[in-house]
Amino acid sequence: MTNELLRALPRVDDVLTHTTNDQIPRGIMVDCIREALDNCRTKIKGEHEIASSFSVQEIAEMAIALANARLTPKLCSVINATGVVLHTNLGRAPMAESVAEHVKQIAMGYSTLEYNLTTGKRGSRTDGIEKLLTGLTGAEAVCIVNNNAAAVLLALAALCNAGEVVVSRGELVEIGGSFRVPEVISQSGAVLREVGATNKTHLSDYQNAICENTAALLKVHTSNYKIMGFTQEIEMRSLTSLAKEAGVLSIYDLGSGSFISFAGEPTVQQAVADGVDVLCFSGDKLLGGPQCGIILGKREHVEKLRKHPLYRALRADKLTLAALEASLTLYLDLENAKEQIPTLAMLLATPEALKEKAARLLEQLSAAQSAALTMPPLSENGRGHRASVLPLALQKIVGQAGGGSLPTQEFESWAVAVSPTTDFTIGEIETHLRNWKTPIIARIHKDTLLLDVRTIEERYFCEIEECLVSGTWRHQ
Ligand SMILES: *Cc1c(COP(=O)(O)O)cnc(C)c1O
Repeated sequence: MTNELLRALPRVDDVLTHTTNDQIPRGIMVDCIREALDNCRTKIKGEHEIASSFSVQEIAEMAIALANARLTPKLCSVINATGVVLHTNLGRAPMAESVAEHVKQIAMGYSTLEYNLTTGKRGSRTDGIEKLLTGLTGAEAVCIVNNNAAAVLLALAALCNAGEVVVSRGELVEIGGSFRVPEVISQSGAVLREVGATNKTHLSDYQNAICENTAALLKVHTSNYKIMGFTQEIEMRSLTSLAKEAGVLSIYDLGSGSFISFAGEPTVQQAVADGVDVLCFSGDKLLGGPQCGIILGKREHVEKLRKHPLYRALRADKLTLAALEASLTLYLDLENAKEQIPTLAMLLATPEALKEKAARLLEQLSAAQSAALTMPPLSENGRGHRASVLPLALQKIVGQAGGGSLPTQEFESWAVAVSPTTDFTIGEIETHLRNWKTPIIARIHKDTLLLDVRTIEERYFCEIEECLVSGTWRHQ
C-alpha cells in the first residue's frame, strides 16, 4: 500500500504545469515542489493504517504555499502588547516617525556621509553627531560603533594595551547573547583584575590593585540585576578621581545611557561631569535611538579609538548614523523629545493616561464583538460557525522597562484582559493573536491574556479589533 502510494506521486514537471503563478521564480517553485513531495513521502511512510494519497493539484497548492512563505520576509512588524518597552526579542527601541522618514531619505539616494559641502572635500562621517552629542552632554569627542558591546570592546582594545583592567566583583556582568565582561576584557587583549566581593567593593580595593601594569579602572553598570542588602559600590566620581591620581584611565560602561533621569539612575551628562575618560552606552535602550554604541570621552582617547583597526570593523553604517543624528536632534528640545521619541513617551506615560487608553481599547473591542454577534454566522467549508464572545475586562498591571534597563523599577500600567471561554483556551487565543497578519504578541498571566496598552500604538487598535472579532467566529 505504502509503496503504491509513493509510486503514485507525480513527478516535479507534472506538478510544475499545475503551478501557474507568475509571481514565483521558477527555481524557487521547483525547489518548493521537491519540498512538498518530500513532505508527502514522509507523511505516507509515517501513516501505517490508512495512508493518504495526494493529487497533483494538492501538491501544487502545498508548493505554492511554501514558495509564498519563502518570498515573504521573516523579519516583519508585530504589535507589542507585552508592555515591555525595550523588548529585546521585539527589536528594542522603536523609531520616531520623523527619524524613520530621514532614514528613508538617506537610504534611497546619495548623501554627505563622508563629504564636506563647505570644502567640497572628504569629510568625517560623524561630524554632525559629534556636534550634537558634545552640545547635549558636555563631552569633548565622540565615536560611534555598531552597538555598546562593540563600544566596550573597542575602548579596551585601543586604550588598555594589554594592561590590567580593574573591575569590581559585583560588576562582572553578563548581558546575554554571550556578552560577559570578563570575556570581553580577554578578547580585547587586556587582563582582568577583579577586586572586592560580590556585594561590597571599597575604594581601597581599587587603590590596592593599582600597580605599574594597570591600564584602567572600569565601572560596569549592573543593568539587568541589582544586588540588595549589605552592599557597597563605588560611584564613578570617586573612581575617576582615583584613576586621575594614579595616572590610569577611567572607563564607564553605562549600558542604558539616558539624557533624562529615571529613578535616580545616573544620566550621561552626570557621568561626563564626573570627569570619566571614556563612557560607553547603547543607542537603542533608554535613549530610544537606533542600535549603536556611543562612546564619549576626552579627545586624545577618542582619537585613538578612531585610528584603531577594529574601528573600521565596528563602525556604524549610514542608516544608523542618519537615525542617530535625527534622534539626537529631537533631544535639543527635551520636552519635545519626551513626546516624539517613542521609548520616552511610552516609559513616561502616566497611569491615568494608560487607564484611559485601555478603556478606549476595551470599548472598541466590546462594541465590535457585540456588532459581530448580530451578523449572520460566516460559513467556512460549508460549515456553520457559532458565535463566541470573549470576556474582556480592564485590568491594572505592573510592567517593566525591559532591555536590561531599570531592572527593579515597576511601571504601573493598564491592560485589556481577555479571559478564556468554554470554546477557547487562553493558549488558543494567544496563538490566534500571534498568527494574525500583523502578529500580536501578548503575555499570559494567571489564565488571562493581557493586552498592555503602554506599548500598543493607537493606530493598531483597529487591527486588534479585526483579529479578535475574527476569533469570535472561528469555532464550528
Ligand atoms: C546592554 C548593555 C551592553 C550591551 O549593549 P548592546 O548595545 O546590546 O551591545 C553592555 N553593557 C551593559 C552594561 C549593558 O547594559
